[in-house]
Order: sequence, then C-alpha cells, then structure tokens
Amino acid sequence: MKRIAVLTSGGDGPGLNPCIRAATRMAIHLGTEVVGIRRGFTGLIACDAVDLDLRAVGGIMGRGGTFLGTARCPEFYTEKGRREALRTLNRLGAEGLVVIGGNGSLTGSLELHRLGFPVVGVPATIDNDVNGTDIAIGVDTALNTILDAIDRIKDTASSHQRAFFIETMGRNSGYLALVSGLAGGAELVLIPEVETSMEKVAHTIEDAYVRGKAHCIIIVAEGWKPGTQAVVDYLRERQEELGFEIRLTVLGHIQRGGSPSAFDRLLATRLGAAAAEALLGGEHGVMVGWVASRLAVTPLEEAVAFQKEVNLELCRLAAIMER
Ligand code: ATP
Repeated sequence: MKRIAVLTSGGDGPGLNPCIRAATRMAIHLGTEVVGIRRGFTGLIACDAVDLDLRAVGGIMGRGGTFLGTARCPEFYTEKGRREALRTLNRLGAEGLVVIGGNGSLTGSLELHRLGFPVVGVPATIDNDVNGTDIAIGVDTALNTILDAIDRIKDTASSHQRAFFIETMGRNSGYLALVSGLAGGAELVLIPEVETSMEKVAHTIEDAYVRGKAHCIIIVAEGWKPGTQAVVDYLRERQEELGFEIRLTVLGHIQRGGSPSAFDRLLATRLGAAAAEALLGGEHGVMVGWVASRLAVTPLEEAVAFQKEVNLELCRLAAIMER
C-alpha cells in the first residue's frame, strides 16, 4: 500500500491523539503515506482530509481529545453513505483505513470491510465494552479522573456526614462505575447489568449511618434503572429515617477529557502502531487489542458480535468490600 487513511470515530476519550500519532509514524516507517480524515465517518463522506507527516503528529502525545475530531454519523448506517465513503477513499488514493473507536465505529468498519475495503480497527472507548481486548484506549484515564472526583467528594461528604450519589458515564456498560467504585472504596455500586432495588439502596445508607460511618458513597452508572434522579428523589422523601443527608453529583463530560495517563499513552502507541503494521502486512477486517498483556488480533466480526460483559468476579469483590 502506498497510502492509508486514519480516523477517530464515535465518543471521544483520552489517548486518541497518541494512537493517531503511532499509526502515522509506523506507516511512514514502513514506507507508506498517511492521510488523516477529520470528524470520523462524517469527514470520510464529506472528503474532509489532511495529509499527515511525521511533524503533523508531533506534540500531541499529552493532549486529550482528538486533533482530527470525531463524530457520530447517521449516513454511515446506510449503504449509500458507505459507498460515498469508499469514493472518498479512492479519490484520496488511500488503499487501507485505520479506524479508532468503540463498538459502533468497529461495526461501521466491518461494513466497509464487507464492501471489500481493507480496514483495521483499534478499540477506543471509555465504556470498555469491546470484545477482543482486556482494556480499550481511554479507560485508564477516565477511571483516574473519576477516582480523583470520588476522593474529593469523600472529603466534603465526611465533613458534613452526607450520602453522595456520584453518576458516571455508561449507558449500557457498568464498567466505569464498578471499577471506580471498587478502587474508590464506595459503599455501593449501581450498574445496568445488576438489578438493585431502591429499598436495598435505602438500607445500605441507613446501615452505614447506624454503623457510624462519616459518609456513604454510592457510584451509579448512568444506564442503571430506574435512574439516579429517581433514586435520589425516592430517598429524599425518607431523609429522616436514613440519617445522612442526600446529595448528587453527575460527573458528565469531565470523564472524557484530560491528558492521557501513562498507561493510555503506551496502550495507544502499541495499538496504533500494531494497526498500521497489520494493515500493511495484509491482515484486514481485524481489530488489534490487548489481551493478557500481549497484542491480540481479533476478526472485526467477533469483536462486535456482542457487547463485552462486566466481570462478575469484580461484582462479587465489590459486594464484599462495600462493608
Ligand atoms: P462509544 O463507545 O464511545 O459510544 P462508538 O464508536 O461505539 O463509541 P457510536 O456512536 O456507536 O460510537 O458509533 C460511531 C459511528 O459508527 C456511528 O455514528 C455510525 O456512523 C457508525 N456505526 C455505528 N454502528 C454502525 C452500523 N451498524 N453500521 C454502520 N455504521 C455504524
């Protein structure tokens, strides 16, 4: 291949820039030119591109977000949109494509591969719900951001004897809530994958108060049902019985921003470089991931076949530690 394209797609997160940098530098090292596509599949359809040389990807290692931009692209769900994207790739002279993104972006990549275009995917999503990798790019930094918030909220919660609900991202995946709750010493974690009644939440808070705890920290994934606001409203009506005063903090988009951690920079560099190597080495329709501390190549079909399930062993551990 004389020229390949690279893009970031779907939700943003820390580590996308080091990944673009690594894919670009490895491809150039292997004698191939690189073109960057702005705003994911949207830019691919609109032919919004920029040539990337060694200097173009300099100085971005520590920057959060993605300098190419990212997007959710409704047109790409249609065959017409994907054919338009193929036309752009031909116009740009790109013979292969590296897609950096989550489950949706990898599914879109699989569709392009099915149209006969060489694609390699890289898992990047703070939800950590992609099969074929133990951890996706962005997860480690997001976890550290959440932990920093938990520690700060614990300080103020303890000073005032309050129960705090802290809502993390994760519409379908409880990974961020579960792992940050475990590492942050939360009293309870509420995730979409595990049913927990409002009575159980009330009991946990009351119990923590009776046992003389200075605070009660409950981490809630945004996809937990019946929802963070619903449980807070329910408990505020029972404030007298609970002991603790109830407060809520929604962390929101701060979880997506920030300079990538050392782990994410290294993971992004390894996976970005491996994606370029795989593409140029003739491995197409695959995703490069990180399994048991090694690079692992998984067919895109397998990677997106189903959403990776939350680790039940971690759920068990969290339940034991929540005392
Ligand atoms: P995150 O995990 O952060 O949400 P993601 O990559 O899963 O990232 P999505 O919005 O699900 O984010 O997908 C990104 C884009 O990938 C979509 O906007 C769409 O353009 C494309 N895409 C997703 N699913 C498909 C599909 N089934 N077929 C074709 N394209 C798809």
